[in-house]
Amino acid sequence: MTGWTDDADIGHPFWWEAAPPQPAEAGLPAHCDVLVIGAGYAGLSAAIAAHDCGATVAVADAGLPGAGASSRNGGMVGAHPRLSWSRLAGLYGAETADALFAEARPALEWLRGFIRSEGIDCDLQQTGRIQLAWTRKDFEAQRQMARDVAAKSDVQVRLLDRSGLGSEIATDQYFGGLLFPEHAAIDPAKFHRGLMRAAQRRGIAVAGACPVTALGRAPLGFTARTGQGQVRADKVILATNGYTGPPFRWHALRVFALPSFIIATEQLPAGDLAHLAPGRRTMVETRARHSYFRLSPDGRRVLFGGRAAMRPVPLERAAERLHATMAGIWAELRGVKLSHVWMGNVGYTFDHMPNVGEDRGLHHAMGFSGSGTVMAPYLGAKAAYRALGDPRGATAYADTRLRRHPLHPVPTPHFLRAADLWYRHWVDRIETWRGRA
Ligand SMILES: Cc1cc2nc3c(=O)[nH]c(=O)nc-3n(C[C@H](O)[C@H](O)[C@H](O)COP(=O)(O)OP(=O)(O)OC[C@H]3O[C@@H](n4cnc5c(N)ncnc54)[C@H](O)[C@@H]3O)c2cc1C
Repeated sequence: MTGWTDDADIGHPFWWEAAPPQPAEAGLPAHCDVLVIGAGYAGLSAAIAAHDCGATVAVADAGLPGAGASSRNGGMVGAHPRLSWSRLAGLYGAETADALFAEARPALEWLRGFIRSEGIDCDLQQTGRIQLAWTRKDFEAQRQMARDVAAKSDVQVRLLDRSGLGSEIATDQYFGGLLFPEHAAIDPAKFHRGLMRAAQRRGIAVAGACPVTALGRAPLGFTARTGQGQVRADKVILATNGYTGPPFRWHALRVFALPSFIIATEQLPAGDLAHLAPGRRTMVETRARHSYFRLSPDGRRVLFGGRAAMRPVPLERAAERLHATMAGIWAELRGVKLSHVWMGNVGYTFDHMPNVGEDRGLHHAMGFSGSGTVMAPYLGAKAAYRALGDPRGATAYADTRLRRHPLHPVPTPHFLRAADLWYRHWVDRIETWRGRA
C-alpha cells in the first residue's frame, strides 16, 4: 500500500515547485512571417531560431506554455537513436541510418551550447545515462548497439556487464547495461522557463490560453483562427507533439499520445539514497514497462517514471504500480512515502523516431517518442531553418517519416486500450519470466 506525505501533490509535477508554468499574455499580431503553434521546447526553440534569422515571429499555445510535456518530463538528456542501426537501415536505408547515428553528438552539443549561450539555469548535471538490460537477450542487443554507436558516431559508450553494473546501482535485477557517460540530467521546468525568457528577451510574442482552432491556406501562406482572432502568417510551424488535436488531423493520425507517469518520493535525509545509485546516473530500462528513474538534483528523492498504463488511469493507481516496480528494484524503498505523482503525454510515432518535415507547406517538428529534452529544441530550431530556407536546417531527421498505421484510423488512439491489456497481461508476464531465466 502506497503511503503519501501529508502535503502530497497529486497531479502536479515535482518540478513545478521550483518553476511552475506561468501565464503568457502577449497580444498576437495580425500578420507575422512565422507563426508557431505550441510553446513547449520545440515551439519556443523554433521561434527563437526564426527570430534570429530576421523573421517576425509569434507563438500561440492552447494552455499555459510549458504545461505540456516540457515541464513534466524526467529531465533525462540523451540523443542516441533509440533503434538499432540495422533497424534504421531497414526503415530508411543505410545512408540515413549512418547519418542519424552521426547526428547524435551534434544534437547533444547543440543543446549544451544553447543552454550556455542563453545562460539557462536548469540544474544541468553531467550524470551519464545507463540503459539497463532486463533480459539476457536485451543485453546481447546492447552489445551490438555499443558496437554500432562506437563505429557510426562520436558518442562515447561503455557496455557494463552484471559485475560492472554493481558500482552503478544497488540491485541485481539487470543483466547489464549500456552507459552513455556524456548524457546528462536537467530540471525540465527550469529549462522551459529559460526558453521562455530567451524568447521574451527577443520580444517574441508568446500567447498562452490561445488555441489555434483552424488553419486555412491563403494564396501567400496561412490564415490561423486563434483564441485572439485571425492571424495571417507566411509560414506556420506545428509544435504540438503529444498534444496534437483535431485541427491537425494529418499529424494526429501519425503522432499519438502515449501517457507516461512519474512519482517522486518524499525528501529523505541527505546521503540516504547515495548507495542506491552511487554514480547518480539517469537510468532507463529495456522492459516494455519502460521504467526510467533518477535522483532529484539535490539527491534527496527518487523520481521514478514509466508506462504505468498505456491510457490515462487514476493517478493514485498509476502511483501504486510505479511504487511497486520501484520496490522491485530497490526493496528498501518499499516503505518510502510519495510526495508527487503526475502524468503527461509522450508524442509517439509508429517508427519510434522523431521527424521534422512539412505537409503542403505546414512545417512540423514532432514525434520525439520520449527523447524530447534534446530532440524537441534541436529539431524545433531545424524546422524554423527549413521553413526559412536556411541551410542550417539540414538534418537526417528530415529523412525519417511520420507514417500511418492501420490500428490508428482516427485521430484518437483507441488502439492503446487493447495495447494496454496486451502489454500488462502478456508482455509483462513474459518479460518477468525471461528476466528471471
Ligand atoms: C512524463 C514524461 C516524461 C518524459 N521524460 C523524458 C525524459 O526524461 N527525457 C526526454 O528526452 N524526454 C522525455 N519526455 C518527452 C519530452 O518531454 C517531450 O518530447 C518534449 O517535452 C516535447 O516538447 P514539445 O515542445 O514538442 O511538446 P510539448 O511540451 O508537449 O508542447 C506542446 C504544446 O502544444 C500546445 N498545443 C496543442 N494543441 C494546440 C493548438 N491547437 N493550439 C495551440 N497550442 C496547442 C500544448 O498546449 C502544449 O503546450 C517525457 C515526456 C513525459 C510526458
